[in-house]
Amino acid sequence: MDLVTGLRCRECGRGYPAQALQVCDFCFGPLEVAYDYEAIAAKVSRASIEAGPRTIWRYADLLPVSDPAPVDLGTGCTPLVRADRLGAELGLSELWIKNDTANPTGSFKDRVVSVSLTKARQLGFKVAACASTGNLANSVAAHAARAGMASVVFIPKDLERAKVVTTAVYGGYLVAIDGNYDDVNRLCAELASDHLSWAFVNVNVRPYYAEGSKTLAFEVAEQLGWRLPDHVVVPVASGSQLTKVHKGFEELVKVGLVDDPGRQVRVSGAQADGCSPVAGAFASGSDYVKPVKPHTIAKSLAIGNPADGWYALETVRSTGGAFASVSDEEVIDGIRLLARTEGIFAETAGGVTIGVLAKLAREGIVRSDECVVAFVTGHGLKTVEALEGSTGPTATIPPSLDAFAEASADWGLDTSAGAGSEA
Ligand SMILES: *Cc1c(COP(=O)(O)O)cnc(C)c1O
Ligand SMILES: [Zn+2]
Repeated sequence: MDLVTGLRCRECGRGYPAQALQVCDFCFGPLEVAYDYEAIAAKVSRASIEAGPRTIWRYADLLPVSDPAPVDLGTGCTPLVRADRLGAELGLSELWIKNDTANPTGSFKDRVVSVSLTKARQLGFKVAACASTGNLANSVAAHAARAGMASVVFIPKDLERAKVVTTAVYGGYLVAIDGNYDDVNRLCAELASDHLSWAFVNVNVRPYYAEGSKTLAFEVAEQLGWRLPDHVVVPVASGSQLTKVHKGFEELVKVGLVDDPGRQVRVSGAQADGCSPVAGAFASGSDYVKPVKPHTIAKSLAIGNPADGWYALETVRSTGGAFASVSDEEVIDGIRLLARTEGIFAETAGGVTIGVLAKLAREGIVRSDECVVAFVTGHGLKTVEALEGSTGPTATIPPSLDAFAEASADWGLDTSAGAGSEA
């Protein structure tokens, strides 16, 4: 039985076959994957999922492609960490961190790439391509290598060093563009219509790519014991992840997998001040997401003209969430706060999420009695330059006891549980 019924226009509802198509011929609306939820409900159960692999592919019945051997590096089932120490600092009684730094290439992008390249390979594509703010580049290059496909990856030339190295190492073609992400994306849209024989993961196979983000919602619900959280805080670049996390929670209700189907998950969005077109529209009560020229250290979120911006705005409004943005300084504070309280090192996008979480908690929008999940979507080693100047050794001393005694004199460490003093 086919669980996917095809593609459907989000605006006019017109149907299309499940091919490499992205926009509606009639109204230019974006296409989305459509499913037969009755058939899925009849097939899927908690037990069938729990018996699956410890990757995103345990949710294959709710994904747009099924394959006995998907293009997979072991993505998903990342830790959902109860964050009591961070929660205490923010005045939140039940805070969880979804730690997607633990994915194979260190970011949530492995979810969308594993799904889209599996579909692309089934459609017969031999070349994987993408326009990237960095993490997508890493992930496409790695998964293409795994699948034995060629990759052609386009990035803005001013990316963080680590993101360039961890893309180039996989041996694909890496093209740095003298321009920002929106320039790169425009070029790729033009190229995609010339090179119809390439799978641009976030252009002509974008409907399948986007579905991969739903696995964040599936995992959170399963890890909470098949219950929905009250509130999630999601970082926003194109807005795809945020809208699909919401779709994921809705699907769990539709197919009867969660205990509390009546619960409304509030979805809040996080951006950096230097690239906050959607947060700006939310703040001004506008329906128009006005494009901006990005300038922020949160480069993985630096999309000035977000493809799903309007849908993200609509999702946040309709679920009773909020949008907020934080300064680059608050991004760094957020990275350090999460590291200091929970032992998790996030990239700048994670600093954006934690900074916005802190802000929304202060304003009482994220409430102290809610079950809150914050999505930390990329690893800190990818953006170490963001911390240069604000972190380093506590002391640099000669190798002598005296020098150490002097340097550590005012540390005030608790030494009461020293060797032999235990009762
Ligand atoms: C790409 C990305 C996001 C969100 O991307 P969307 O385009 O909004 O889906 C969030 N965090 C990190 C680290 C990313 O790389
Ligand atoms: Zn349409």
